[in-house]
Amino acid sequence: MAGGEPLWRQRRRQDWAALQGGGFDVVVIGGGITGAGIAWQAALHGLSTLLVEARDWAGGTSSRSSKLVHGGLRYLPHGEVRLVREVGHEREVLERLWPHLVRPLPFLIPVYRRRGMPLWALGAGVWLYDRLTGVEPRHRRRMLSPEGVLALEGGLAAQDLAGGVSYFEARTDDARLVYTVVEAARAAGAVALSRAKAGRLDLTPQGGRVEIADRETGETVTVRARAVVNAAGPWTGEVDPQGTEVVLGRGCHLVFAHHRLPLRHAVALPAPDGGNTFAVPRGAVTYLGTTDRLYTGDPELPDVPEEDVRYLFEVARAAFPRAGLGPGDLLAVYAGVRPLVAQAGKADTRELSRQRSIEVRRDGLISVRGGKLTGFRSVAADTLRHLAEAGLRPPRAPADKSAAAFDPARAAADLGRNYSLTGLAAGEIVGRHGSSAGEVLRYAAGRPGGLEPVAAGAPVLWGELDYLAEREDVFTLADLLIRRSALLWFGGLEEPEAVLRPVAKRIAPILGWSPEEAAGQVQECRREAHLDRLEELRRLAL
Ligand SMILES: Cc1cc2nc3c(=O)[nH]c(=O)nc-3n(C[C@H](O)[C@H](O)[C@H](O)COP(=O)(O)OP(=O)(O)OC[C@H]3O[C@@H](n4cnc5c(N)ncnc54)[C@H](O)[C@@H]3O)c2cc1C
Repeated sequence: MAGGEPLWRQRRRQDWAALQGGGFDVVVIGGGITGAGIAWQAALHGLSTLLVEARDWAGGTSSRSSKLVHGGLRYLPHGEVRLVREVGHEREVLERLWPHLVRPLPFLIPVYRRRGMPLWALGAGVWLYDRLTGVEPRHRRRMLSPEGVLALEGGLAAQDLAGGVSYFEARTDDARLVYTVVEAARAAGAVALSRAKAGRLDLTPQGGRVEIADRETGETVTVRARAVVNAAGPWTGEVDPQGTEVVLGRGCHLVFAHHRLPLRHAVALPAPDGGNTFAVPRGAVTYLGTTDRLYTGDPELPDVPEEDVRYLFEVARAAFPRAGLGPGDLLAVYAGVRPLVAQAGKADTRELSRQRSIEVRRDGLISVRGGKLTGFRSVAADTLRHLAEAGLRPPRAPADKSAAAFDPARAAADLGRNYSLTGLAAGEIVGRHGSSAGEVLRYAAGRPGGLEPVAAGAPVLWGELDYLAEREDVFTLADLLIRRSALLWFGGLEEPEAVLRPVAKRIAPILGWSPEEAAGQVQECRREAHLDRLEELRRLAL
């Protein structure tokens, strides 16, 4: 570290300087999973690529999802077989590419009499689903009796239980997945800048110019581009006001300590309105979501409405009647908005297809809307096909680099032993950093108190925060605590508020913050993490 100049900032300064008068084959607008994936694939295929993100990597929807890399069982009854098959295949590829980040997750669907789909129909659906998504035999569905269900998850309501089905999906950390893909894009040659907003577009089908503003300094630069891709998620219409309308569906999640809802499986919870609500175990916590309602506000920081919280508590209490969950148990809440493609006559966002749409404007702007976290590589492949049709043929096919075999469980066991970490901390650090976890821990060990957890029992270490601040495009406290480390929402902290000041103080010298700036960062992070809202909700009478 060079006095207030972390390594990532040095790189960013050089990248920004290189933009002056520069030109690219492709400029991708939006550093969520869609844009990161397109930039990665474009660079892998030999196109010179610039990716710009106005906020932080995954600062929009891609850090606020349910984090399931799933084949989309629920799309099957809607006949979306292509989507199911495609995302199922993608799940398998992602598990192979980044086994630390995309991990198999056992799923359980309990079935109750006179509610929802009968057991036999669900069993047949999951059977078909396993085949469509190419699940390996040991992970295929199991049909369960009521006793079988309760043997797996004893906290579930027993009354009227008809049985259930267990099968496998996968879980990820969406924000880290995006960051990993951004790094992969850089490794393939892309220039990737966060806090850089695309503004005025001046395009023709043969190419054009994009104005980019550095949100840190206010400086602007205009770059030439042979093609421009709009992957701005909920902001797609802001970048392309003439295109098909994007409708926003807001979804909220509640986070509880794992010991308050000690699940071993992700559980699909029967909801009174047939909504898709899951309880998902993740290390120190179990999170529960989602809701899905039309949202017409600003996508920047969607609030968590009381109505959604009440709904999720109602569903959770019916499913786990003896857990005694109450608002005082809440450790975190968050909301995200799905960018969905508007369809005539459909006002309920739950009815809108999750299929993506790729639209090419007359002046050549390619806008990518909708889609899923899970299918991001195939969205990128489709986008590349559109680029080729527009005359921008990728110069090469990417080399088939099969990921080196990496066993996250073994790495966690080895590192946990070497650095005397708890199983939870070792597993989570490997989950965040994969094969770089050893490097992170060596760095942490060299920092004062670097191997100590940030709070008692928390799966994040002080030295790991230093590492992230030094290396991973961390502009703000929220970048660090919400998206890079996930500490605030998923660290199992009883009092998330308590870590803000100490963390800001610790990383201030790395990021060159004055005491006033550090105090401002704390306030901004509180806002982004919904901490005031959390306090209000904890006092809610339910
Ligand atoms: C509650 C919820 C639960 C979900 N659960 C799942 C799930 O379990 N599994 C799954 O597969 N999918 C899930 N999804 C869907 C998935 O999260 C989204 O489809 C996906 O994250 C959308 O990514 P995106 O890159 O298109 O949009 P975003 O992640 O929003 O990225 C768009 C980016 O563009 C940037 N941007 C905007 N304007 C500009 C500009 N002018 N210049 C530069 N940058 C700009 C924004 O800052 C933003 O970061 C869920 C969605 C929600 C809301």
